Amino acid sequence: MAIVAIVDDRVTNRNIFSKLAASIAPDIEVHAFGNPREALDWLAANPVDLVITDYKMPEMNGADFVRALRATQGASDIPVVVITVYEERSYRLRALEAGATDFLNSPVDHHEFITRTRNLLTLRRHQKLLAERADTLAQELADSERSRERAIRDSIERLAQVIDTLPVLINAVDREGRTLFVNAFETDFFGVDPVAAVGRPLAELIGKANAERNQTLDQLVFTTGRALPAFEENLTSADERRRSFLTTKTPLRDHTGAVTGVLTSSLDITAHKRTEEHLRYLAHHDPLTGLPNRTLLSEKLRGSIARARRGDKIFALHLIDLDGFKAVNDVYGHSVGDRFLQAIGARLREVVRERDTLARLGGDEFAILQSDVATNYDVAEFSARICEAIAAFVDPETPQMKSTASIGVAIHPNDGADPEELLRNADLAMYKAKGEGGNAYCLFAADMQARARSAMSLETDLRTALANDEFVLYYQPQFDVSTNAIIGVEALLRWNRPGVGIVGPGAFLPQAEENGLIIPINEWVLRKACADARIWQRDAFPLFRVAVNMSPIQFRKKNVPLQVARILSETGLDPRRLELELTENIVMQDIDAVANDLRELNRLGISIAIDDFGTGYSSLSYIKKLPVQRIKIDQSFVRNMTQDPNDSAIVRAIITLGRSLGLEVVAEGVETPKHLQGLREVGCELVQGYLLGRPAPFADISELFVRASPLAKTA
Ligand code: C2E
Ligand code: CA
Ligand code: CA
Repeated sequence: MAIVAIVDDRVTNRNIFSKLAASIAPDIEVHAFGNPREALDWLAANPVDLVITDYKMPEMNGADFVRALRATQGASDIPVVVITVYEERSYRLRALEAGATDFLNSPVDHHEFITRTRNLLTLRRHQKLLAERADTLAQELADSERSRERAIRDSIERLAQVIDTLPVLINAVDREGRTLFVNAFETDFFGVDPVAAVGRPLAELIGKANAERNQTLDQLVFTTGRALPAFEENLTSADERRRSFLTTKTPLRDHTGAVTGVLTSSLDITAHKRTEEHLRYLAHHDPLTGLPNRTLLSEKLRGSIARARRGDKIFALHLIDLDGFKAVNDVYGHSVGDRFLQAIGARLREVVRERDTLARLGGDEFAILQSDVATNYDVAEFSARICEAIAAFVDPETPQMKSTASIGVAIHPNDGADPEELLRNADLAMYKAKGEGGNAYCLFAADMQARARSAMSLETDLRTALANDEFVLYYQPQFDVSTNAIIGVEALLRWNRPGVGIVGPGAFLPQAEENGLIIPINEWVLRKACADARIWQRDAFPLFRVAVNMSPIQFRKKNVPLQVARILSETGLDPRRLELELTENIVMQDIDAVANDLRELNRLGISIAIDDFGTGYSSLSYIKKLPVQRIKIDQSFVRNMTQDPNDSAIVRAIITLGRSLGLEVVAEGVETPKHLQGLREVGCELVQGYLLGRPAPFADISELFVRASPLAKTA
């Protein structure tokens, strides 16, 4: 539908134009006005599609009308046709200037009127369509712009929500340390108002101490323009929860790339740390007692060593080993043993101070790192206290179990530079304490290590010596000075050590007694001495005895009578030609058992001598109860006899008493004629010593027999 307005002061024209207009198209609505002002009023309120106006009208001409119309709202682009007389060109010009769209000549050609107006209406319709389309396009454009903005706004909001709910403390600060933003997790954590926080110094938010460290690190980010490597820190929340965080700091840049802020994000790793700590605890503690284990002790030792380097006091490592615990454990069972170890651990815990470290190294082995030691005396006193505590300890739950401890102590820095060396040396000292019977402590001494090392190689060498037949027997003659006859020889062990030469027993026998090699060695001695003596017996030298020295270990570990009987039968030696030398200490060890053995040996025909007499704890009255035939006065008395009247008196007393008991008395260590003289004066006739004959190999002694006793061959 189109609306057409017609303005003409003449009624006839109005009617003709109205009819013509109505005939343009079937749905045309026509409004006709005789007065242009009336028309303007109406047009101001009613939009039309085409205006047809006469030029020459009273009150207002066509040009003025067009101008006025164009000035009305929404009428700037309505097509306006002005009807003028052809000749009046100036009218046309004026109408055009005022904004007319087209002209029609008066009198109007009906056909032209209809064609022109129809075209203008069509144009108008297109115009309106275009405008509408542009409108909707603009509308649509505006709509989409709005939705895009909304989408961005939404996503920013969502991002903020995400940032707020992350379990991460997130904040950003500017160069002056003022908060640029802070997420909800952080404001919750520190219990501050998120709105008030922005723009305020961060210190007000996270506390002064935290903020100071933060500021230093932030400055680092500002100056380097680089992110910092992640670091761990502990922060305390408003409600006093202490949590662990892994914190990273990265620079925030503006569009030019300049650093304008620092973003700090701290991830809560408390749970992770707890698991880590638990695992660490398990790796550093002994599950039975809950005490630190060897690993943790080593760490503590390393720490103490480092502190000592910085000038801290010295410290001591006490290595505690329960005596005979294994056997007890076997008897009572492992659960009782475990319970006892736990109780010992608890008892030791009472002995140590806060700054000391008590550890269980495994089995029945504990260790204490005693820190802040002033003197060795402190160390010894502490060790003694541990010994006493363990010896006196009774666990009410396992009252049947009692134990003592052997403790080895190494003191830093003298006894070791690193944990391994300290442990090793404490261990050596502990074995020393154990070797001396246990229930004792022993401080490490520098020579222990060297001793332990040479002991090791000596043991190996002694085994080789046995296998390679490197041992030799020397014999030292014993004389009866009243007749000058050889009454016997003492077999003395020598080691022909490769690369060393002949070595005396003092250099290796103590070691052999400690490691048990004395048993096979002495068996060899006994067999060799018997075999040699068998040769002398066959060559019919005068009746004499071969004396063999016995070790205390043999009587403890071996059936000596049986062993001796077997060797005698193997070698074919007459038992009366064999004498065994025992020290008083052997006899005292287990008097009844040894007395039995000695009686047995006597029955076989073997004689017994007590060696080094006077140096032990026995007395003659005591010896007389034993089946002993001879005593050998120790060298020390003989040596001092000439200077010390006391020693002389002792020798005299021994000889008198010995004789009254029917015992032969031999004096050892006769080195000078003066010694011999002195012995003669006190009535001692049987002697042995360098003066009369040094220990010598088998061949030399055989020769001596021949020379010293020309009667031998005939006897
Ligand atoms: P012992 O049984 O008291 O042996 C006597 C030691 O005194 C021997 O030393 C001998 O060489 C030495 N001697 C002898 N006369 C004199 C003297 O006039 N002056 C000095 N200063 N010394 C003299 P050796 O051979 O070194 O033996 C030392 C010890 O080794 C022996 O002391 C003995 O206890 C032990 N021993 C030696 N051979 C054996 C053995 O085969 N088995 C065992 N179990 N012990 C042995
Ligand atoms: Ca001897
Ligand atoms: Ca002796």
